[in-house]
Amino acid sequence: MLSNVNSYNIKPEWFIGKGSFGSVYKAEKAGKFYAIKVFQTELLQTAYKDRIDREIKALQKITHPNVVKIYDFGKFKDNEFEYFYIVMDFIEGKSLTEYVGGIDEKKCIEIVESVVDTIEAIHSQGVIHRDLKPANIVINQKGAPIILDFGLAKLIDYSSITQTGDRVGTFYYMSPEQITDSKNIDSRSDYFSIGVIFYELITGARPYDAMNLPALVDQIKNVYPKNPSELNSSISNHIENVILRLLEKSPYKRYQTTREIKNALRSIPEKRKRKIDIDVKFFVRLLHNDKTVFMSALDDSLLDRIIFPANFFTLCKPTVQLIRKTGVSFTTDPATNRLPYPAFSKTKGIRELPYSSGDEVIPIQKKDFHSILQVQEYVKKVLEFQIQNGVTELAAPFFFAKNSSDEWFNINIKLLKESIAYRDQFYSKMPIWGGICMNVDNWHDEEEKSRILNHYVKTEPDGFFIYGDPIANTSNLVQLYHYTDLSKKLQTASAAPVVACRINGLGLILICLGISGISSGIAVLDNFREPILSDAQEGYSNDPRYYIPELLSMITLKKKVATKLTDIAKSSIANELKCNCKYCRGIYSGTPLTQRNMKLHFLTRRKQELEEIKKIPYDKRINYIEEKVNLAMKYARTLSNEGIEVGDFSHLTTWKGLIENFKKKNS
Ligand SMILES: [Zn+2]
Repeated sequence: MLSNVNSYNIKPEWFIGKGSFGSVYKAEKAGKFYAIKVFQTELLQTAYKDRIDREIKALQKITHPNVVKIYDFGKFKDNEFEYFYIVMDFIEGKSLTEYVGGIDEKKCIEIVESVVDTIEAIHSQGVIHRDLKPANIVINQKGAPIILDFGLAKLIDYSSITQTGDRVGTFYYMSPEQITDSKNIDSRSDYFSIGVIFYELITGARPYDAMNLPALVDQIKNVYPKNPSELNSSISNHIENVILRLLEKSPYKRYQTTREIKNALRSIPEKRKRKIDIDVKFFVRLLHNDKTVFMSALDDSLLDRIIFPANFFTLCKPTVQLIRKTGVSFTTDPATNRLPYPAFSKTKGIRELPYSSGDEVIPIQKKDFHSILQVQEYVKKVLEFQIQNGVTELAAPFFFAKNSSDEWFNINIKLLKESIAYRDQFYSKMPIWGGICMNVDNWHDEEEKSRILNHYVKTEPDGFFIYGDPIANTSNLVQLYHYTDLSKKLQTASAAPVVACRINGLGLILICLGISGISSGIAVLDNFREPILSDAQEGYSNDPRYYIPELLSMITLKKKVATKLTDIAKSSIANELKCNCKYCRGIYSGTPLTQRNMKLHFLTRRKQELEEIKKIPYDKRINYIEEKVNLAMKYARTLSNEGIEVGDFSHLTTWKGLIENFKKKNS
């Protein structure tokens, strides 16, 4: 045990700790306290053995209130071993390690800003710290972070350190380039270490945390860490981006100066004031072959809102131009959710999207979104394509996620946050929609539901489009209940409208249960299941479908158009089910019902239905729809009793159960 080093007195209880190299003691000389760092000279890199004095004198030139002062240094012998010692300020305070995970974002930013300032002073003398880590930062009694041990890391030959047992710990904060070629690093290597410290401070976890050195080195060099907000959902997006940018693998992709880091920390983006509109909405999903229907529908004012798939923008330019002229609210399904599936790499419209992989054999993959710069570049491509095509409301890119543990889930959250940030910066007047495309089978699990809500509520778009798999007529009560429940909770918590997408007759029930919007095609099969994304043939059928509002259902006519409708016309409820809209008039007297007219009939009747619902007070809608479902069940039974086969209506029973459950919950 040391008791005296070159007239600095050390008491046994003054041992402070063992660092990556050497030991630190509190020491006293002439009534003043110091910290003294002691290490064996054999740990020095050969290159520095003779010129260490010069090196330390260079470090002494750095004067900054938050840089620890070096007072003295030298060599001494003890038990045949030669030691080197450095005498520094004794800082009373707590190591930054004690703050990890226990302070809020504001405090973390303050500390990091101050660390960046100090590092700037160190760099300005041409010195790289090389060993920045929480253990080398002490928060003094005034609350200022004091940086220790700068520049010393260069002097030490790390390959010779075996006795400290802290080998892995030395690497947690190292940049990829420092691991690969520690002699040729610059200030940006320290920025990386600041990124690791920032990440750890704010999340309580290190971005790279393998237990053994080879695995750790691999992570630092090749693996992108989880987004900090996945660990702490209260982290603001712009701070998350600063951290991720600091942690870029290539130095040129990080910030290039301390000024850039400080600017990024301070530039809190202005929040756009949201105009919250949760009025009942119907988004018609227009298809490429709907142009003539669409023109008639416009003439008759049957369309208020259009959602046009982005893969048809280029293929159907005249339709897009027409939509733009109408002035109706126009947004898009960016069709991004199809891009990871090989089935669509051959589809022209999909492959030619400026944000597809553009490659016939390699679809979009998760790795395309690992770096924050990739995410930002992607968002830009998707949104600019929409702007070029004249949308009035933007739609963020999204992908199908099985559940909240699926990596796509986190990618989606980040893409949405970045899309909103991009909109805020360049198109602050435009609303933006977020898409949620998920399997709903786990939504009955409260934890899963909370995770989805926690993350999406925090994103704050102007509204959400939800695509739930497998929401269709065949969905069971549990699926429908939790799909509806989550949508309602999301709408309430985020104060943004939720639109249930690719929804059939169920849509009216959802609206009466409180979901503000629905989206569907024009009388085509409308439900959403993941195979629609993975299989190009799935979900497309050219069978004509005719909507019977009284049955809340479409009936598939196939080739026997006349037969089914004539059968209904012969039933005892023919008058109740008969439509008198201008597109249907005359069909019972023999005028053939064309697909075009069937679609226009659907738009006419859906519009009437929604207008009627809008007139009903919000809390009375559930009773209204319950009566409608009861009546539909009665009609379906009558048809069945009279031997008229028009389809399976068992979904009505499920919907009735859905309504009853929500009534029970409200009472
Ligand atoms: Zn009609």
